[in-house]
Amino acid sequence: MSIDTIHEERNIFADAIKRLDLAIEHADIHAEALEKLKHPKAVLEVSIPVRMDDGSLKVFTGYRVRHDNTRGPTKGGIRYHPDVSLDEVKALAFWMTFKCAVVGLPFGGGKGGVIVNPKELSPLELQRLSRGFIDQIADFIGPEVDIPAPDVYTNAMIMGWMADEYSTIQRQWTPAVITGKPIPLGGSLGRDDATGRGAYYCIKELERHKSWNPSDITVAVQGFGNAGQYVAKLLHADGYNIVAVSDSRGGIYRPNGFDVPSLMKFKNESRQLKAVYCEGQLCNLIEAETISNEQLLELDVDILIPAAMENQITESNAHDIKAKVIVEVANGPITFDADEILNANDALVIPDILANAGGVTVSYFEWTQNKQGFYWPLEDVHDRLQTIMAREFNTIYDIHLEKQVDMRSAAYAHALSRLGDAISALGTQDYFENGSGS
Ligand code: GLU
Repeated sequence: MSIDTIHEERNIFADAIKRLDLAIEHADIHAEALEKLKHPKAVLEVSIPVRMDDGSLKVFTGYRVRHDNTRGPTKGGIRYHPDVSLDEVKALAFWMTFKCAVVGLPFGGGKGGVIVNPKELSPLELQRLSRGFIDQIADFIGPEVDIPAPDVYTNAMIMGWMADEYSTIQRQWTPAVITGKPIPLGGSLGRDDATGRGAYYCIKELERHKSWNPSDITVAVQGFGNAGQYVAKLLHADGYNIVAVSDSRGGIYRPNGFDVPSLMKFKNESRQLKAVYCEGQLCNLIEAETISNEQLLELDVDILIPAAMENQITESNAHDIKAKVIVEVANGPITFDADEILNANDALVIPDILANAGGVTVSYFEWTQNKQGFYWPLEDVHDRLQTIMAREFNTIYDIHLEKQVDMRSAAYAHALSRLGDAISALGTQDYFENGSGS
């Protein structure tokens, strides 16, 4: 691990809470409420012993953080990644609190992570690790306490194992403890593409405000995992030009644009990102330039969609970003210092806590369906998601225009007013001193 990585890992939570001090100027929130939000409610570190296929024992480290539960049980994904750290999980849990408040869900924020490269594990080892993690955190989670979901390198199958393990521990079928499950195990229709779809609905609202013609607009997507693939697919279907995409190994660039369904088909079947065009089962290579992830970020495109990991746009490359619209589908891809540079360059950033909130919104739909035992058709999921994303996007866009602040500060101000109202409803110093006031 390089010194830079260590340095960035150490600062990610501190970097995250700096946004509060900026947004506070635009939000009506009591100082006590703000202070509360700077500290995670509870932090758990666990060791997970896993019997490997060769008979050896390996012990993995995992974390679960519950940031704030004033507005409801904490909610947020579990990631499997070699770079997971407690500091990162704290920042991700903090963002979940704000994300849930931005879209008005009755949840607080939580997050989990295990330090592991899941690509190095066999399916059975992955299953033992996932069940083992739930065994260790079972007392910390629950349908009314803290509700995990998928995140980077975790998926529906892993969520199914986890819900099954929790149900075994509780001696009762408890699907509402985890969302993002396979459909036959209580998952919701429309959860698979929800994160990408939520971002797409935000872009459609912006298209309306800016009167764009999609065929004039070029888009680059960093990260071709679940969220990146679906936002690219939906935009492509509307006529947007997806000119560059990348995965962890690098990217491809083609000024005339890619056929996104072909890229998805090839990537999901071969696990490789290649410039292809497919007709039926037959995929042919097409001409495209090979680029690095760093080069992708600096392309001269209209919309840049970082959909991979945090800390991708920092003060060292922010000056070179040419896109005038950036949609944060990943959590935390732009650092605090880079934000200032992008704002000064008049780039409009649709922040993560709004742009990628579609995932947790459909997780909320899944949780309510599990609790009711009543399942919705796909059209209802899409309609309700679109209603929420369009409503919250426009509220935040209006704050951005009226208060002349960037979209991130507007989103934080909007979330802070919901959080502040909830925290103040329990009483603040003014109330307890005077018996009145907020
Ligand atoms: N991991 C996703 C996120 O960062 C989804 C969380 C959820 O569905 O609870 O928003």
